[in-house]
Amino acid sequence: MSMPKELLAGVVRTDRTMSDGRTIRYYDTAGQSRVALDQRPAEPQPAIGELRLDSLVNEWVAMAPHRQGRVFLPPKELCPLCPTVGELLTEIPDSTYEVVVFDNRAPSLRSPAEGWELPALHGPETPNAPAAGKCEVVCFTSEHGNSLGDLSERQVRTVLEAWRDRTRELSQVDFIEQIFPFENRGEEVGVTLSHPHGQIYAYSYLPSRVERMLAAARDYKSKTGRVLFDDLVLREIKDEVRIVAQNEHWIAFTPFAARYPFEIHVAPRVPVADLTELSPTVCDAFAPVALEVLKRLDGVFGIQMAYIAAWHQAPVRQGRDVLRLHWQITSVRRAPGKLKYLAGSEAAMGAFIMDMRPEQSAEQLRNVVLEK
Ligand SMILES: [Zn+2]
Repeated sequence: MSMPKELLAGVVRTDRTMSDGRTIRYYDTAGQSRVALDQRPAEPQPAIGELRLDSLVNEWVAMAPHRQGRVFLPPKELCPLCPTVGELLTEIPDSTYEVVVFDNRAPSLRSPAEGWELPALHGPETPNAPAAGKCEVVCFTSEHGNSLGDLSERQVRTVLEAWRDRTRELSQVDFIEQIFPFENRGEEVGVTLSHPHGQIYAYSYLPSRVERMLAAARDYKSKTGRVLFDDLVLREIKDEVRIVAQNEHWIAFTPFAARYPFEIHVAPRVPVADLTELSPTVCDAFAPVALEVLKRLDGVFGIQMAYIAAWHQAPVRQGRDVLRLHWQITSVRRAPGKLKYLAGSEAAMGAFIMDMRPEQSAEQLRNVVLEK
């Protein structure tokens, strides 16, 4: 076991090893000592999956057939993300926790053998590769019924520190190219555990959205000498109509060409490449804006909105001068009882059709009256 490590905002990380060899990291603010042992029998780790190239579009697809057997929406009393109290031995051996991050038990991507390399692209001749990467689970709170938006500012600050710490450490891993902390909330977007949690995928290749953002940003830089995302944020500040929330250090807006009925981007006013580059002051200012955005989202229809909250960061090894950190929240709900489905045009052609302008959804979000 390694020594506890001090991070910003009074957060201390303590690592423990789980019975099957995975690592669990506790992020604490109250001087807790983490000594609880994982009492479950050791079980073998699933085999690594494979990366296959979809050579029609040159995109990697990760095949992880071992994930079929994973737990699907267990009842609260069988929740594997609650602390271990009583008989049920969960993923978290301790009886309390604030924020924990542990290696996923059924990861889509995992550490490859030494010397792993992504194959060069040669159409259908491209060899498969072991699905290298890392998948981690981030538990936001030990309170089963809560959601990220129900947390206190202090708790969100701790979650942010955990995301930053994981980005910093995973960036050091030689086979990692892109680090993606995200949260799926709601069964509508495929959540299989209702405990408030997110995940971190650390990819060994650039996902297609990142590739396309990188190409657009490089093109813009070569034509104008400027950073695309910075100019987009400047336009939002000038236009005002799509701003949803803001403070001195962060701005939240519905993007100019939103693809989802409710889509919000949250960006620091001083641009950075990734979470590790945020200054302490900017980190401290994140929670108020994040909580306001999530509360406005739930307030639009007075129901818990299903959403995907995604951290876009610059890749670990390239494009760090042109891609910017931002937090993208997308919700497929367009009205109570109505979801936007990715149908023919979106799913087959990647051509999004919106029946609502982002200026409208920004206004709806701004009009939500927040309880004090
Ligand atoms: Zn739970």
